[in-house]
Amino acid sequence: SHTFSCHCIFKLRLFCSSSSPDEQKPRPSMLRHLTSKIKATGPITVAEYMREVLTNPVTGYYVKNSMLGADGDFITSPEISQMFGELVGIWIISEWMGAGRPKQLQLVELGPGKGSLAADVLRVFRQLSSVVGGASVSLHLVEVSPVLARLQADALTGSSGEEADGDEDPVYHRGRTRDGLPVSWYRRLDDVPAGFSVFVAQEFFDALPIHKFQRTDRGWREVMVDVDPEKEEQLRFVLAPSPTLASSTLIQAGERRNHVEVCAEGGAIIQQLARRITDGGGAALIADYGHDGTKTDTFRGFKGHQLHDVLSSPGSADLTADVDFSYLRKTAGGGVACLGPVSQRNFLKNMGIDARLQVLLRSCADPSVRQQLISSYDMLMNPKKMGERFHFFSLLQLSRLARPTAPNGLKLEKNKNPAPLPVAGFTELQYS
Ligand code: SAH
Repeated sequence: SHTFSCHCIFKLRLFCSSSSPDEQKPRPSMLRHLTSKIKATGPITVAEYMREVLTNPVTGYYVKNSMLGADGDFITSPEISQMFGELVGIWIISEWMGAGRPKQLQLVELGPGKGSLAADVLRVFRQLSSVVGGASVSLHLVEVSPVLARLQADALTGSSGEEADGDEDPVYHRGRTRDGLPVSWYRRLDDVPAGFSVFVAQEFFDALPIHKFQRTDRGWREVMVDVDPEKEEQLRFVLAPSPTLASSTLIQAGERRNHVEVCAEGGAIIQQLARRITDGGGAALIADYGHDGTKTDTFRGFKGHQLHDVLSSPGSADLTADVDFSYLRKTAGGGVACLGPVSQRNFLKNMGIDARLQVLLRSCADPSVRQQLISSYDMLMNPKKMGERFHFFSLLQLSRLARPTAPNGLKLEKNKNPAPLPVAGFTELQYS
């Protein structure tokens, strides 16, 4: 049975009552690794702490656990209902059409979890093969966790597939979907080939490391993680006594908050996405919980159903911070257009989730399955559940939002240029 614990817990995930066996075991090795590092070279930034705890290649939380799903720690939107991934699939096809139906289409997903979103997207592609059949489609997954990569391969390719030939190959696993589309796995976005791509990142940016800064009488100071001198095996937060590289470069001019979190790694990924979209064409769809530059302290840990102290038994709990969409927009620069954030509720409504629900209900007689469809719709859409905590944000080619120019020599009346094509999800679909 599922417990939904959202009133006290911001991280809007559906927590499951069963916990993974891993969760019970203490993880002395991660704590020891961190304390010896800090003793040797001094306090580390929160970003370094978060990166080590989540993605250390040996003991990282994401690397060791398969935390998603019924036997894991939490469930996310694509795990709650197939409708989520299907509507993302429609969005991808709509943007591919908006770009003039290029011959090659790379679907790139960052942090695909159990692979459910990608599987639902591919099903839409199969159903709409009369529309997309002309394009050669390939799937590219960016994933650091070998445990999750294996689950993704099972979900998307069955067990077929092959490992990389050597450490040099940036593709560490490859296979083919049941429809014969090539799928490749990478550790970093850098390694994904160039070319027209639609990027999807669902609950990916919130897992990337953040820096934390506190305003003081002497200016901005970075929050660091240190060993508690009183208690041997415990960590604590301290303020850096003088400016750090991060505190002198990452605070925006005119910042008004007293405490700020900056996800520089997220910014770097956004810049890469922007460059790829400018150079090769395409679009990016980012879904996550977050705010538009207003929140302060959102760094938190989750273990089982509970909020978990971010500094205790590191590696045993998920760490997360709200995504600052205003920061993503600023780092994207002027080379791409940014849309959103819009709430998950509005995005899915605009994408036609109500009609999709009706179709699924109509083709389903089993009362318990019908009930399940209705309650998963409520989970995704209810403003008190996921509907207004999660947001969609998009990067597009500038030309995508430009008004189509009048044909040469044709004089149109002022203001009579045709409006740009609407972008699905971000504007209400008009049926005329
Ligand atoms: N998108 C999925 C999973 C979200 S959990 C869903 O919504 O269900 C975050 C995902 O990002 C996991 O697959 C995790 O292993 C991956 N991940 C976390 N940090 C990463 C990083 N730095 N690089 C690549 N993948 C990362």
